[in-house]
Amino acid sequence: MKGVMQKNLVVAAIAIAAAFSAQAQEKVLNLYSSRHYQTDEQLYSNFTKQTGIKINRIEAEDSPLLERLRNEGKNSPADVILMVDAARLWRTQIEGLFQPVKSKVLDARIPGNLRGKNDGEGSEWYGFSTRARIIVYNKANVKPEDVATYESLADPKNKSKVCTRSGSHPYMLSMIGSMIERNGEAATEKWAQGVVANFARPPRGGDTDQIKGVGTGECGVAVANSYYYARLLRSTKPEDKELMSKVAFLWPNQNTSGTHLNISGGGVAKNAPHRDAAVKFLEYLASDEAQAYFANGNNEWPVVKTAVAANPTLDAMGKFKAENVSIATIGKNQIAAQKILDRVGYK
Ligand code: FE
Repeated sequence: MKGVMQKNLVVAAIAIAAAFSAQAQEKVLNLYSSRHYQTDEQLYSNFTKQTGIKINRIEAEDSPLLERLRNEGKNSPADVILMVDAARLWRTQIEGLFQPVKSKVLDARIPGNLRGKNDGEGSEWYGFSTRARIIVYNKANVKPEDVATYESLADPKNKSKVCTRSGSHPYMLSMIGSMIERNGEAATEKWAQGVVANFARPPRGGDTDQIKGVGTGECGVAVANSYYYARLLRSTKPEDKELMSKVAFLWPNQNTSGTHLNISGGGVAKNAPHRDAAVKFLEYLASDEAQAYFANGNNEWPVVKTAVAANPTLDAMGKFKAENVSIATIGKNQIAAQKILDRVGYK
């Protein structure tokens, strides 16, 4: 009798342990992210507090992250993939690494033009923050009215003044992809030719290096994402303060199409083992609270209208008119953009 009871207890204990481990499996989320900012810590721990779901993070740059997802294939433990720039989100999408999500919360909160492959099947990715591609110029050598538009960078009057990072970088491909949408391929090719003719130096380095080039006077004008500029504005290092005293920025194309806007965003991985948790996480990212953390972590703007990100540096940069081109279209145009760059020798 005692033996039987003990045996039943053991069986019950095993059943309970199994239930717990099943529950433990549910309460985990594997996040593949190319974002790594200090305020993201708070973002993730608040999600765990609210839902009990623990987040395992795999952080890497976009390209290695994509490579890893490709190699892992069906066995990938990835649940959520976070990427920066529409060009990269689009690449992830066409490689079939996302799965569509249907969510009333996301549909209500994320604007339609900031979603990828948005049809009856749901969306494959969502933008969670926005960044602008601004024009930075040397205050001593360049007049703002000469560089007020992206188009003006190809004007012969700006000969030997223009600096950009590699044209093949996603930030540039997206910007040029948007120009293709607005001006057509032929005009954009002519523009790219003009920019190459105006280079102060061959493209090299990242956006911050372009701002530095403008500061030293090696470049007269450059393009950079807004958050790099904001980061330097917030810097307390004497050399950054010195640099920023030499440069100014403007919101491009204010009298025409508006400033090129891009996103950082993400979606649910194709073979997500914890799909429900993944959707829950995306919905959490669209909450007012998470939006503020997500945006401020990288000096970006929230996408949700009701979210307030208290960022005095961004506020001081002022308001601007943004372009109205679908982010999905910009992502798709990157192939045509790359072909144009190859034809005109824009490295
Ligand atoms: Fe960046």
